[in-house]
Amino acid sequence: MADPDCLFCKIVEGEVPAEIVRQGERTVAFRDINPQAPTHVLVIPRDHHPDAASAAAHDSGLLDALVRDAHEVAVAEGVDETGYRLVFNTGAGAGQTVFHLHAHVLGGRGLNWPPG
Ligand code: AMP
Ligand code: ZN
Repeated sequence: MADPDCLFCKIVEGEVPAEIVRQGERTVAFRDINPQAPTHVLVIPRDHHPDAASAAAHDSGLLDALVRDAHEVAVAEGVDETGYRLVFNTGAGAGQTVFHLHAHVLGGRGLNWPPG
C-alpha cells in the first residue's frame, strides 16, 4: 500500500533516514525534523492513508493502534504523567503538509490552549 511519491512511505521502507524511536506492528514512530517541543515524535501507520478520517473509513482498528502506540511513545519519553498533546492536522488549511497520516506527540513543556 506504499505510495512511491510519499515521504513518510519512504521512511517506513527505510529509503529516507529518520530517527526512529519505536517500530510497532502497524506503526512507526520517529522524531520530527523540526521539533516544536522537547518531545516531538510523529507516529505513522505503515500503510498509506492521507489523513485520519480516511484511515478511519478504510481500516477499522488502525487508529486504535496508532493512539495506543502514541501513548507508549509518551511513556517512553517520560511525558505521559506531565501531559502530552496528540495532534492530527487535517487539510492544508489546518497546517497539514505531509499527506500520510501522522499523529504528532508533543510534550515536555507547557502547551497553550487554544493552539495557534
Ligand atoms: P504536518 O504539518 O501536520 O503535515 O506535519 C508534518 C511534519 O513532518 C512537520 O512537523 C515536519 O517538520 C515533519 N517532517 C517533514 N519531513 C520530515 C522528515 N524527513 N523527517 C521527520 N519529520 C519530518
Ligand atoms: Zn505514504
